Amino acid sequence: MKIDKHTQDIDAVGDNHVGTSSETPLRRDAFKLTSSEKVDLIKDDVRHILETLGLDLTDDSLKGTPNRVAKMFVNEIFGGLDPDQKPSASTFENKYKYGEMLVEKNITVYSTCEHHLLPIVGKAHVAYISNGTVVGLSKMNRIVDYFAKRPQVQERLTIQVVKELQKVLNTEDVACIIDAKHLCVNSRGIRDVDSSTVTSEFGGKFKNKETKREFLDYIKMDTSF
Ligand SMILES: [Zn+2]
Repeated sequence: MKIDKHTQDIDAVGDNHVGTSSETPLRRDAFKLTSSEKVDLIKDDVRHILETLGLDLTDDSLKGTPNRVAKMFVNEIFGGLDPDQKPSASTFENKYKYGEMLVEKNITVYSTCEHHLLPIVGKAHVAYISNGTVVGLSKMNRIVDYFAKRPQVQERLTIQVVKELQKVLNTEDVACIIDAKHLCVNSRGIRDVDSSTVTSEFGGKFKNKETKREFLDYIKMDTSF
């Protein structure tokens, strides 16, 4: 089969894990269809892929797969494409005048690499310094989870988490570090089981050496109860 230059270039972008923007690239008509209309269409596409691979979808074990995968794509692993699923931005006044850094660490990340549609599994560590507004602790987990549930590039995920919290908390002083394994690297291609990828985004005061160091020291603290 002849592979043209354009296809080679597109393949290289995926293999090199190049991201293009901090915004998820969405089509203009991204929200024209309802979720159930999307499930119906994707179901047929999944069936087509499996049949092209030569599988017999009348087999009892396989016959539910297209519908199962379509529902999982739309409602679960890519559910963060739907703005209606975005965690509500309820914030509170910082009444106890806590002026130090708050760190939410070891937030579990389950995402999907947009170049190979294989899982990204890891931990996110998020920190902010309040300038008068605070959020519930679980809000940080929910924001990570919302942006993780998209076809993603780890760099973009890290930036999206920081930008969203900056908006919600009305401060630049937000940071995020993600350490994650990409199954497209661990289970195929180079097949390096042990490697993981670390990305970070430091806003406002977190750009200062000492503040950054403090955040990194908290992450290193052993958490055992
Ligand atoms: Zn990948």
